[in-house]
Formats: sequence, C-alpha cells, structure tokens
Amino acid sequence: MCAGELCGMMHTDEGRPDGGWIRVRVPLPFSLKYVNAYLVPERDGWTLVDPGLRTPEAERLWREVLERSGIGFREIRAIVLTHPHPDHIGLAGWFQERSRAPVYMSGRAHAYAMRLWGPERTFTDELPALYREHGLPREMEEALRDHLEGFVAMVSPLPEPVFIQGGDRLEVGGKGWEILDTPGHADGHLCFYLREERRLLCGDQVLNGITPNISLVPGGEPGVLARYLDSLASLEKLEVELALPGHRDPIRDMRGRIGEIREHHVRRLEAMEAMLETPLTAFEVCMQLFGGRVNGSMHHLRFAMSETLAHLEHLAREGRAASARGADDIVRWKRG
Ligand SMILES: [Zn+2]
Repeated sequence: MCAGELCGMMHTDEGRPDGGWIRVRVPLPFSLKYVNAYLVPERDGWTLVDPGLRTPEAERLWREVLERSGIGFREIRAIVLTHPHPDHIGLAGWFQERSRAPVYMSGRAHAYAMRLWGPERTFTDELPALYREHGLPREMEEALRDHLEGFVAMVSPLPEPVFIQGGDRLEVGGKGWEILDTPGHADGHLCFYLREERRLLCGDQVLNGITPNISLVPGGEPGVLARYLDSLASLEKLEVELALPGHRDPIRDMRGRIGEIREHHVRRLEAMEAMLETPLTAFEVCMQLFGGRVNGSMHHLRFAMSETLAHLEHLAREGRAASARGADDIVRWKRG
C-alpha cells in the first residue's frame, strides 16, 4: 500500500487503520519537504484532499501510489482544497484532467490563484512593487519576479472550481463535514470539521512543529494576522481529538498547539516593537529577524518579508507602531 517513505496509512489508534484513509506525503522542493494529501474512501471511489505541488517527482509518486492502492484516476470522485497555496493546489488541475472530478474550493481561494498564476495574473508585478516600497533593494526585484513566474508550471493547469464556503456542508468519506471559514494563513482558507467524530481537516491553519506563515500580500484583506488569530480562537472552541494538517504529523492536542502558536506571535510582535526605537524599513526589520535564514533564497525571502509586513501591520492596528513614507518613496516604521 505504501510507496516507500513517502506514503503511509493513517492510524487513529495504534495499529488500527483509520477508516481506510491514506495519507500521501507528496514531496516538495522546499525545506518543508512534503505536503500531506489525503485519499478518503467513498462508497463508489475516493475523495482527494490537497494533492500537492506539480513536479515530476510528485507525478511519479502519485502514479505509484494509485497503482499500488489499486485506484484508477476515474475512481477519484472529488478533489477538495483547503487553500490555494501552490503546495496544495498545484496538482488539482492535473488530477481533474484525468479524473474529471469536481474541484471544491472557496471563491476567495480561486480568486487568489487566478491573481497569482492565471492568464491575467498581476501578482508578479504587485508583490515586487510592494516589497520595493518597503525597502527591498532594487537589484533583488528581478530575481523575485522570476521566482514568482517559476511557480506557474507547478500549478498548471489550474482547476475548474466548484465553489464552497463556510457554513456549508461537504460529503467526505460518506459523512457530512462542516465547512469553516478560517482566513489568515491564506485568503479563502477552509477547514472541515466532523463534529460527531471530533475530527478536523485543518490545512495549514494549525501545524505541529512549525508555525503557519502569515503573509501580508497585495490584494489581501487588511488585518491578516488579526484574522488569523480570530480563526484560531474559533477553532479553539471546537472539540477536536484529531486534526489532520497539511504538513507534518497529525495533531492530538489542538488547543495546546493553538496556545503555542498564539504565544509565538505575541513574542514576535514584542521583538519587532523593540526594534522600532529607530525608524526601519520592513526589509531592515525582516533582515534583523530572519536574515540568516533567508540566506539568498527568494522563496525564504518572500515568506520572511510578508510575515514581517503582517506583523508590522498588526502593530500599527494596535497603535504600537506607525509608518511614514519618506522623500525617497520608501516606507519606514517606528514605535507608535
Ligand atoms: Zn502548505
């Protein structure tokens, strides 16, 4: 059933396969290493959740997994996306072409994907322009643009969506899951909750071992970190025995993990506030916070810079920081 180390059966209790769910660890060419996709058995086929980034390695793995599991592409009845980041949506269109299955995602998620990778995409220009006004050196703009364009092949073809939204229900594994709007990590991010089994499909909203990236991006709704923290607060109210995330291992103590993530953001906000005794650009704050880890990688820089902007925006909302545009057209931040 397993394809080497990259795929494993889900277990809720020691040794007991859980309702036939298959977790497939789809490889990623980033430090995250893999994304969790889930194959869920249905009466007449399978539902596929978050199929992963489109790379030759991922395609090869999927062909192996399906063959070893005896699953034909046409037996995939539905494809469900928690959110539109490339490591989750990338293979959705590839699977849709082969299975002809509907791809369920939120309208906001689809709009985001179109802005980044659709034929009339604008993000490739908008993101470098945003970073530029926040201090990104001009010589890095072109590399950032190339980096963004490099994702188009890894998410193509984009799927034809069927829109779902918070408050609706979706049948997965023969059971009615509640759809929850959980913005913050991505616009249009959805979680899926099976109340009677206290189980949550949580995408990248809550992760073990790593804190989900919170990014301020052009065209996003304002207050991204506030919206993320609100989403965590709404999830915290749920009874959850097992949360199935988009990366790393399943989460048993979701409330405990939410508490740790919240604490992480409190500490980061305090650290940034302390830096702003002297005015700094977001890029300078980013380098002080993440410099060593960015290490010349555009991929890391993008996460670090948007995470920095999200926290600065949050400090400004709380009256703890303020920004001003200089004569050089660059925005600088200082303590509020
Ligand atoms: Zn992810």
